[in-house]
Amino acid sequence: MADVVLDKICKTFGTEFHAIKDLSLTIRDGEFLILVGPSGCGKSTALRMIAGLEEISSGTLSIGGENVVDLSPKDRNIAMVFQSYALYPHMTVFDNIAFSMKLAGKSKDERTKRVNEIAKTLQLTKVLGSKPAELSGGQRQRVAMGRAMVREPAAFLMDEPLSNLDAKLRVQMRAEIVSLQRQLAVTTIYVTHDQTEALTMGDRVAVLKGGVLQQVDTPKILYSKPVNAFVAGFIGSPSMNLFQGRLEKGCVVLPTFSLPLSAEAFARSPGLTAFEGRTVLFGIRPEDLHDSKLASGAMHPTIPATVKSIEELGSEWIVHLNIDAVRVDSGDPDAVEELSSAANAVAKFEATSHARAGERIDVAIDVAKLHFFDPESHLAL
Ligand code: ATP
Repeated sequence: MADVVLDKICKTFGTEFHAIKDLSLTIRDGEFLILVGPSGCGKSTALRMIAGLEEISSGTLSIGGENVVDLSPKDRNIAMVFQSYALYPHMTVFDNIAFSMKLAGKSKDERTKRVNEIAKTLQLTKVLGSKPAELSGGQRQRVAMGRAMVREPAAFLMDEPLSNLDAKLRVQMRAEIVSLQRQLAVTTIYVTHDQTEALTMGDRVAVLKGGVLQQVDTPKILYSKPVNAFVAGFIGSPSMNLFQGRLEKGCVVLPTFSLPLSAEAFARSPGLTAFEGRTVLFGIRPEDLHDSKLASGAMHPTIPATVKSIEELGSEWIVHLNIDAVRVDSGDPDAVEELSSAANAVAKFEATSHARAGERIDVAIDVAKLHFFDPESHLAL
């Protein structure tokens, strides 16, 4: 079993700067865990501590039940795949993959057998004699994976391995890495700042902010039940719209309109009733705002809006709106920023919408899908 267990891990740079604070996380044997968060949140530092490339200031780390805090990187039985693939340009694919076995003094027969097995899994058999420069970006990525696999590590650690690839290849390689990970069933920790990668690749996703773990859950739960306004705003594209309103007699009251809440909305947010008569933050995802003239928008309460611009993306449109509300910046829970009283909102409409830039429309809000947060702690209600 190769569980990776982080227990109250801290990393301090110098005497003052706490890059990772009390990080406790168990990555189960065979699990694909994504570590995600904005730039500077400490993702790479956390991964480098697991790899042994960065010293742990306090806390414990075990891999496969063994405390590895005092072990050097090479004794931790892990393999790291970096964004620059770190392939040797003068060596063939075969020699690149076999390199660590050669260093470990394995016989030629052993090396050939193992490299051939790996090449078969990675569909690299035909290019074993080629040099990295002759390969496509995707093939190079697979060779890098092959180099990691050859050592039969207890865990793979990947730091933004796809960030050097163009958009199309990225999508293809995401799928390849996921299927390879399933096939090998090796515990994998994958760092990215790209929330699309996070939502599409991992069994579970851990969201970090300012060195503090915010939430670790399946992509589905993270999306549908974010624990705080930061996670709500960070996960999902375009981001969740976040506004301020007052809760009065079962309605959310905004400057010029009021939204009646359904019993379902209260059932989804059990903490909401305690906020009667008080300000709350509420969030709505772009896909839960509809054109009231389309079937998807019928039945929901509506609010007036002005269409600022429309991005037509085939079957759906990203519609930028102005509504009469107070928008809140989810990125900084310590400073709830009132951006504008004619707030920006983003909606996803079906392409059959009649919305036109510059026109007034009624936007239907699926109130059962509203997310509510405490305006001070930013925790979900
Ligand atoms: P990115 O996505 O931009 O790579 P990240 O989430 O991986 O960001 P880290 O590289 O882990 O973030 O850095 C976390 C914080 O620790 C940052 O503020 C960074 O400046 C700081 N940091 C990282 N390494 C060191 C170091 N050796 N000395 C001092 N500060 C450091």
